[in-house]
Amino acid sequence: MQSQEFRVTDNKIKCEVLIVGAGPAGMMAAISAARNGSQVIVIEQKDIPGKKIYATGNGRCNFTNQYYDSRVFRGECPQFAYDAYKRFDKDELIGFMHQLGVTSRDINGYIYPYNEQARSIVNALVYECKRLGIDIRCSEKTLDIVKDESDIEGGFLVTTDKGIYRCENVILAPGGKASPTHGSDGNLNKIIRKLGHEIVLQDPALVPLRFADSSLSLLAGVRCKCRTVLMIDETAYDEESGEIIFNADNISGIPVMQMSRYAVKALAKGKKVCLELDLVPDMIGSDLKGFIETSIKERSGINEALGLILNDKLAEYLSERIKDTDELVKNIKHFRIEINGDCGFNKAQVTAGGVNAEQVTEDMESKIIRRLFFAGEILDVDGTCGGYNLQWAFTSGYIAGTAVSIKQS
Ligand SMILES: Cc1cc2nc3c(=O)[nH]c(=O)nc-3n(C[C@H](O)[C@H](O)[C@H](O)COP(=O)(O)OP(=O)(O)OC[C@H]3O[C@@H](n4cnc5c(N)ncnc54)[C@H](O)[C@@H]3O)c2cc1C
Repeated sequence: MQSQEFRVTDNKIKCEVLIVGAGPAGMMAAISAARNGSQVIVIEQKDIPGKKIYATGNGRCNFTNQYYDSRVFRGECPQFAYDAYKRFDKDELIGFMHQLGVTSRDINGYIYPYNEQARSIVNALVYECKRLGIDIRCSEKTLDIVKDESDIEGGFLVTTDKGIYRCENVILAPGGKASPTHGSDGNLNKIIRKLGHEIVLQDPALVPLRFADSSLSLLAGVRCKCRTVLMIDETAYDEESGEIIFNADNISGIPVMQMSRYAVKALAKGKKVCLELDLVPDMIGSDLKGFIETSIKERSGINEALGLILNDKLAEYLSERIKDTDELVKNIKHFRIEINGDCGFNKAQVTAGGVNAEQVTEDMESKIIRRLFFAGEILDVDGTCGGYNLQWAFTSGYIAGTAVSIKQS
């Protein structure tokens, strides 16, 4: 299908549906609306569509997951996300991608494109947009959105740095604030508030956490498989198992990233935040004590004994500081790391917070302004690691795009 012709009146370009943001949510909304017969323009401030998708899953794009439970979506109204998910779930998304020519690969429940290249997801979405005649206008930034008072039907005037659009419906899919180099930086928040919407405080999530004790920088580069407990004001709040990574001034790895949203919110409230690592989760304390005592006798010292079960750097770090066996066991089973911050939106994969879901209908339409829709990370929904954030972007994009076109017909 050729690109649709858009009428220009009073120097304003007319269109039925204008979408801000050509990320996964915006492109999915565009495809859903156009498949239902709507004429669609997408405004994207970056030079290419789907810029962030290339970075997802370390370039492999983990776009959904086989496993869903009540812990995967977070936000002030998590039920909002679960209800939406039921309307466009993992199987629908896998089927949608398949229909666009992208077969999927299941790695321990994590779903990727079969060739494990994010590029194929972007190409498939962009190709489908072209096929449907959707006009994606890159390197164009949306600056303002106001209600078109001259339109009794209740349309909008959207101003960009290249022109003015008169449109019947607007879908806002500009992302949150995470990873601003990919275009999502909260630049539309002021306009969204001006349109009457509350934005739940946006914090970095899925983000490495900074530690207070600078001596831990000696462990930079260490990776260890452990059980990690998040302690807030000395009470266990959450726990995860898996590989954690020590860096120069922070700690990362999937377990830390998963719990980071709670740590960040607790720190903001002035609470004390600690991570407690069980560095040898496969041994109970008494067995560990016996093992260390025997190994010390058989080997030349504590360092060598610990080196049998811990990374060399960790063994050296502990053996230089602790000589008593009971103390060693305590520190290995409860290795405490005091957290005093996070690595910010630049290193975050997602945003916790966004447009308050209570002000949005189940069709992603504003309860305050008719014909204004939201999709993706701009909403107060964030997922855990594992493909849940892209699933949310596609789910909400599908619902918004479908609803906008049904309203029109
Ligand atoms: C490094 C990294 C790895 C990740 N890996 C995964 C993963 O493997 N699996 C997973 O599920 N999730 C992953 N995520 C999260 C996921 O990428 C996001 O949640 C998802 O891209 C959000 O989609 P979106 O369409 O809402 O927003 P975005 O993808 O952020 O797209 C928003 C678009 O809007 C544009 N825009 C913003 N303001 C304007 C404006 N004023 N005018 C015009 N255009 C504008 C932006 O340029 C951007 O292109 C990862 C994120 C990062 C940073």
